[in-house]
Amino acid sequence: MNILVINCGSSSLKYQLIDSVSENVLAKGICERIGSGGACITHAPAGGEKKKTELPMPDHHAAVAAVIERLTDKEVGVIRSLKEIAAVGHRLVHGGEKFASAVLIDEEVIAAIEEVSDLAPLHNPANLIGVRACRALMPEVPMVGVFDTAFHQTMPRKAYLYGIPLEYYRDYRIRRYGFHGTSHDYVSRRAAELLGKKREELRIIVCHLGNGASVSAVDHGRSVDTSMGLTPLEGLMMGTRSGDLDPAIITFLMDKLNGSAEEVLSILNKKSGVLGLSGGVSNDFRDLTAAAENGNEDAETALEAYALRVGKYIGAYAAEMGGADAIVFTAGVGENDGPMRARISEYTKFLGTSVDPERNRTRGEEVILSAPEDAVATMVVPTNEELAIARQTLAIVQAGDEKKS
Ligand code: ADP
Repeated sequence: MNILVINCGSSSLKYQLIDSVSENVLAKGICERIGSGGACITHAPAGGEKKKTELPMPDHHAAVAAVIERLTDKEVGVIRSLKEIAAVGHRLVHGGEKFASAVLIDEEVIAAIEEVSDLAPLHNPANLIGVRACRALMPEVPMVGVFDTAFHQTMPRKAYLYGIPLEYYRDYRIRRYGFHGTSHDYVSRRAAELLGKKREELRIIVCHLGNGASVSAVDHGRSVDTSMGLTPLEGLMMGTRSGDLDPAIITFLMDKLNGSAEEVLSILNKKSGVLGLSGGVSNDFRDLTAAAENGNEDAETALEAYALRVGKYIGAYAAEMGGADAIVFTAGVGENDGPMRARISEYTKFLGTSVDPERNRTRGEEVILSAPEDAVATMVVPTNEELAIARQTLAIVQAGDEKKS
């Protein structure tokens, strides 16, 4: 059975076709600049050559058509017809409080996702455009939605409510939702496997450190807290996002810059984080590390401040869970940046952790960095959100088939 995984943004569409038995990626690619000039599709069949082609794609319908055409093409294709796609799994950003797990998409579900679109106005409508285009072009194929927020729906009330009047939660659903849930779920599961234990026995702190970054506390298999909130702006300092700050800074800056709330929010989303704090050096940790090594003090401060924030969240989550059994690093920075892992680990020594310098050179591979006798394991588990989406999609489709028979 093959599962097509779709991650649809406002002008891009990423896809992977995954064989659900071997879990191998049969082909993957991306459509970019959908709806504007210079649109292109990059398609890479497994074991074949990656090829970028310019192609007019006025809308997402055209993009999905181009993906299907590539997947079934005689030369670069990997399947003969759409009959070989058992289901499509869509990455959906915000499920609000309605969705605590993956779901088979029907009209009712689409309406429910639209209902919570005010919580993710940039993402949910774009995700739904992808769903609609796929439904139109593959009417026979079941569609499954996998939400970024779902895994964190187990957070207790005390963790997800903000300290603001309760009526704003009741009336406008203002609360902490958390994101990267598919990754936190996948990585914590895999970490338990690598430790030879059940996830239900462990207290795991997952540090998903990519362009966007969040930490989660996974207590005996359930997310009990995570650093992102109503939107992905809360929590850690990120590549370009500020993370936690005094909310009064917003009106203070509006006043000083004579700007609107939107302008200040745009600064907090796009010009802040390690990019802003380093004085504009870069949001890429490779550039920041190189600059710091060349004596740029602002780049060095940005890296130190980033590590401190991650360390603080780890400490907080250990407190919340009454300790921790494992700290797991994942995503671009977490998987590849050994020096950043070492900086962060300076703050976790009080828990009884250590990091082996030799093993910490590892990039993009599963590895346990700590010593077997350490009280808390420190490890790297590369995330694989597409595979996690494919697995959840398959489970939903199989559960549906069982019901029918
Ligand atoms: P996204 O949130 O877009 O999925 P990723 O998880 O792919 O992001 O992370 C991208 C970031 O990872 C880059 O901006 C860069 O800072 C960091 N990164 C990638 N490779 C390395 C590396 N070898 N060393 C340090 N940082 C890296």
